[in-house]
Amino acid sequence: MYYNWKKTTNTDELKVICNLIKNGELIIFPTETVYGIGANALDSKAVGKIFLAKGRASDNPLIVHIANKDSIDKIAEDITDVENKLIDTFMPGPFTIILKKRKDVIPDNVTCGLDTVAVRMPRNIIAKTIITFSGVPIAAPSANISGKPSGTNIEDIRKELESKVSAIIDGGDSEIGLESTVVKVIDEVPVVLRPGKITPEQIREVIGDVRIDNNVFGKIKNDEKVESPGMKYKHYAPVTKCELIYGEDERDLVFEISKRVRKFEGNIVVIGFKEHRKDIRISEERFLGIASNNNLEDYGKNIFSALRKADKIGANLIVIEGVKKEGLGIAIMNRLLRTCDYNYFECST
Ligand code: AMP
Ligand code: MG
Repeated sequence: MYYNWKKTTNTDELKVICNLIKNGELIIFPTETVYGIGANALDSKAVGKIFLAKGRASDNPLIVHIANKDSIDKIAEDITDVENKLIDTFMPGPFTIILKKRKDVIPDNVTCGLDTVAVRMPRNIIAKTIITFSGVPIAAPSANISGKPSGTNIEDIRKELESKVSAIIDGGDSEIGLESTVVKVIDEVPVVLRPGKITPEQIREVIGDVRIDNNVFGKIKNDEKVESPGMKYKHYAPVTKCELIYGEDERDLVFEISKRVRKFEGNIVVIGFKEHRKDIRISEERFLGIASNNNLEDYGKNIFSALRKADKIGANLIVIEGVKKEGLGIAIMNRLLRTCDYNYFECST
């Protein structure tokens, strides 16, 4: 069933949706980051359906979504001072923390056998309402087939997953468009395993220290042990081959992209900042300008839906303009490097 939250969903429908969760079914719901495909996190059979629907690797653990801070103690234990400070500062919001899990509560397939659990408290009112009225924590990865760009736009999501879930709740385009910042505290230092809207700098301001995991920008070698299993996999990729171009100097960057537009034998689509189209010398039909004037908020918000759109235009190559690895740019570049499967060109200064 499809529900448009703003236009149609009433209390009776909310009950129907929440009963689906209680009864072990899958629903797709909005959060402020991206859409999630959710199931009762306390029901291993329901959780198993998520892995099947997405084609998700069975060693890639899920994030458990809760509606209030009191729920944290029910699913996690031995929470340290640093963890508590992070929880108090960044929750609710686009922030996930890895905590020691209560083994008797959270089924093994949620955490893929790890003794930790990823916990997030969305601030999106629809997500919050659904979790509250379901009365259980909801395990939910991003709403997309594994490996594809995360679902941030309801048309894309319906096409890809409608037949695999019992309900879809339309809450409009995702506000942030990039998944949450995932943090694990190791030896009292917060380590960013996956960058997001909450930046390392914001974390440092609160705790006084922060580390970014090596795998945030680096390519993971076969058999390498990683803190966050999700980082091993191909991710955020459209069907069409992609190349990422980035560098400090904007003019060099634009020049490199225009060079490809001139020389590439085949159809090319470029994703970049609106103002750069003219200098890149590409037609409007083949250019997806997703933000203005280095507006990283818009770039992050629109990138996943643009990657899907680029596929539809029909090209042999998608060239993506990169951004500086600062602030929100850290999260954007982390995603884009994976989108391109590390096929990138860095303009030297
Ligand atoms: P997704 O829900 O698809 O956005 O991905 C969730 C991310 O959180 C993946 O990168 C997972 O590997 C990571 N994650 C979930 N649970 C844990 C955990 N217990 N320890 C480390 N990373 C985790
Ligand atoms: Mg995902």
